[in-house]
Amino acid sequence: MMPKPPPAQQVIPLDSDAVLAWYDRHARTLPWRVSPADRAKGVRPDPYRVWLSEIMLQQTTVATVGDYYARFTALWPTVAALSGAILNDVLVEWAGLGYYARARNLHACAQTVVRDHTGTFPDSAEKLLTLPGVGPYTAAAVAAISYDERVAVVDGNVDRVLARYLALPVPVRDAKDLIRHTVQAAVPERSGDFAQALMDLGATICAPRAANCLLCPLSQGCAGRRLEPLAFPVKAEKPERPTRYGHAFIMRDADGDVFLRSRPDKGLLAKMTEPPVSDWVSAKSEPDFPVAADWRHHGQIVHVFTHFRLELEVWSVTVAQPEALADGWWADPRRLDAEALPTVFRKALAAAGL
Ligand code: SF4
Repeated sequence: MMPKPPPAQQVIPLDSDAVLAWYDRHARTLPWRVSPADRAKGVRPDPYRVWLSEIMLQQTTVATVGDYYARFTALWPTVAALSGAILNDVLVEWAGLGYYARARNLHACAQTVVRDHTGTFPDSAEKLLTLPGVGPYTAAAVAAISYDERVAVVDGNVDRVLARYLALPVPVRDAKDLIRHTVQAAVPERSGDFAQALMDLGATICAPRAANCLLCPLSQGCAGRRLEPLAFPVKAEKPERPTRYGHAFIMRDADGDVFLRSRPDKGLLAKMTEPPVSDWVSAKSEPDFPVAADWRHHGQIVHVFTHFRLELEVWSVTVAQPEALADGWWADPRRLDAEALPTVFRKALAAAGL
């Protein structure tokens, strides 16, 4: 029989006082964060910066986000500035962070805040949820951190901490309600600091491959500590990631410029920039070259998307009649950084020596 998580009423409440005391001493210094000491002096976080960092941090590490956050806030220091940016400029700056729908939503959200909310982020999770690209997690995080709304903020780190704290015998996805309930029941007045404290605990003390229970402010009530902390969270069976296959065609003119085009408005990597590519299909196929020429094969690059793995054969050629190519543009290879090229296509261009 499937084991069951403990009923909510049997859970020892999280000790929010101990968590906050720990946070006051050990909070990580992050560019978008107001330290607990400054917070105590009355400094308020800027909801724009909280929101921006939270969108960037989805599926990405703090270390990766740092440079992007610095560039975005230098280019667009306010939500009004971001809302007035050209979408392509935002996509160019985002390139490399992946999940490009987030960049498009980021821009749309900034425009909505300026147009419908007089340039001020709404002050509750419920209202924040109505913004483009803002899901329940981001809404809760922005509301708690910016406005101290007393809502539970549960990200992947917090899921892990709670899976251990509760010694959950089932995968996290099967105990979401219990985790949320346990966190929500403990949310104190300083809810923004509490939310960030739990994130920090998960990132530093109760980390994926190590649990430093001796230093942990939750150790008193932690059930996982008395068992084997690293046995939690229990892993969920993952569906296998299928492989798709395709070809990328790198065309250059006599000056060495490379032919690029925009992807369609909808679908994966919508509106991003690419060299011409074939469809990505479930079986290997022969290349259908866009122009008849003596193509050179540069081998294969592999890129892993969330739902599939892509094997892309990379081909290049110098075209005799560049003017015959329509629906794209010729780009100086020294200026490819200014193009909204996702990582997968940067890999393909690099394989062809660009
Ligand atoms: S006591 Fe150990 S296992 Fe429990 S939450 Fe803290 S670090 Fe994680």
